[in-house]
Amino acid sequence: MILDGKKIASEIRSELREQIASRVAQGKRAPRLGIVIVGHNPASETYVANKIKACAEVGIEVERVALEADITEEQLLAEVERLNHDEQIDGFIVQLPLPDHITETTILSAIDYRKDVDGLTPANVGRTVQGLPSLVSATPRGIRELLARNGIQTAGKHVVVIGRSNIVGKPIAMLLMQRPYLSLPGMSASSLGDATVTICHSKTRDLAAICRTADIIIVAAGCPKLLTADMVREGVVVIDVGINRVEDPASPRGYRLTGDVDFEHVAPKAAYITPVPGGVGPMTIASLLQNTLQAYNEHTR
Ligand code: NAD
Repeated sequence: MILDGKKIASEIRSELREQIASRVAQGKRAPRLGIVIVGHNPASETYVANKIKACAEVGIEVERVALEADITEEQLLAEVERLNHDEQIDGFIVQLPLPDHITETTILSAIDYRKDVDGLTPANVGRTVQGLPSLVSATPRGIRELLARNGIQTAGKHVVVIGRSNIVGKPIAMLLMQRPYLSLPGMSASSLGDATVTICHSKTRDLAAICRTADIIIVAAGCPKLLTADMVREGVVVIDVGINRVEDPASPRGYRLTGDVDFEHVAPKAAYITPVPGGVGPMTIASLLQNTLQAYNEHTR
């Protein structure tokens, strides 16, 4: 069965729209998200435009802060401080990547964790590790929601995560191995967890043998066709996070997007599988909106 991220993300947006409309009808102000973009990276500008559009659809106001690429680290830190203290801003993100002369970890560490709707500050990651209420980064939150809304249990299951990045591999592994005592407002997926998790990466020996013991495989490596049919057993659940451009002369753009899974051959063996595009991708923006509402609810309590 295909795990339709596009459909579920659209359901989430409808729920958020209703929740926000009802808060506003009670006389509260609308949630407000800050988006800081530095320089003119075309991919970043597209991502930011998509986020602004998604916010508008559900009733979240946006303050877009566009800064020139030659801004100093101190000036950007001052902007982060301003947003940390702005009472009208419930949460904000600093769109990555940043120019080379700015250290990302310095900037991320300066964001107030209660406004960190990208869930990337060391404070939020630490809170997640300790099972404290936190803002979980968007892609792992989206994966958890995708599993939960399809009734896929993780307790006692063997989950293999391929990839150990700070934005996907590490946090999703952490979330799924947790005892399910994380209680996140507005989160239907809080009962997920209790899995036995193996994290694999580029130095893992015999990835295929490890994958063949998995009930659930989450692939976030950025390698087309990394997961092939001989590496999975019948009835496996496959979550493909990868987004890769592969040349395709038949496409008007000259390329098409593909994930990390050999979808054509793995899908017939899988109980559930996400497509690329239309799987994890749409869930990521929906999760940013959920995080913004979570921060707003805490902030305007
Ligand atoms: P990354 O690019 O920072 O790192 C890749 C990870 O995969 C590393 O930990 C590496 O050790 C591992 N890896 C690479 N080749 C491997 C191999 N042959 N065998 C085993 N492990 C291997 O990771 P990222 O930022 O999490 O991105 C991974 C992929 O997910 C990329 O394609 C990215 O575009 C995509 N992505 C998608 C979304 C989404 O919303 N769908 C969000 C974030 C990232």
